[in-house]
Amino acid sequence: MSKKLIIGNWKMNGSISLLHDFSEILDKENFIIALPYPLIPFAKSINPNVKIAAQDCSIFRGKGAYTGEISADMLKEFGAEYVIVGHSERREFFNESGSIINKKVKNALLAELKIIYCVSENFENQIKNDLEGVDTNIIMAYEPISAIGTGITPSTDDVFAVTTRIKNLWDTKILYGGSVNSSNISDFLGIENVNGVLVGGASLKLDEVKSMLWD
Ligand code: PEP
Repeated sequence: MSKKLIIGNWKMNGSISLLHDFSEILDKENFIIALPYPLIPFAKSINPNVKIAAQDCSIFRGKGAYTGEISADMLKEFGAEYVIVGHSERREFFNESGSIINKKVKNALLAELKIIYCVSENFENQIKNDLEGVDTNIIMAYEPISAIGTGITPSTDDVFAVTTRIKNLWDTKILYGGSVNSSNISDFLGIENVNGVLVGGASLKLDEVKSMLWD
């Protein structure tokens, strides 16, 4: 398969033993794994060449009295190379607004993390509010809410049309995310504008990920 990016997002799932099961594929060139925070240094110790994304970062920088928070600077030190910002689950369950996401994006850039910034159907407003004052290139992930975890995917024509509109606003690499699995991945990776996929549920299954990486 092409060398388009495959990013697995384990969300609040996974375990030390599952990570061990994944050890043989952790350093695949086009694979990035978005891990729960405690697994980040652990994955590095299993395979120093693994490319790791954190799933979020704090609105605060550096170190400080912010119980429970993990800063972008800390994530960088612990072994993350990327960070996901603005995932729809953060927006929905943690009420993340444009000003919060904007701070996170700026902190992540200052920490020299690469950003995987997620937008949904409401991408025009999201980009306007979340990326105010940001002029660095970031990877965007188009993840329609209707497709996340539902098994219902948009047509490739729809994804092409929306990603074209996104590219007109922000010309960068774009990923598609929403119910991607080993059976439909080639449809999405075949779309001209799509530089990779963000995979949730299916990324917890080793066989699924292997066939996505090797097909
Ligand atoms: C996601 O976590 O961003 C996602 C798209 O999840 P799923 O693949 O399970 O729909």
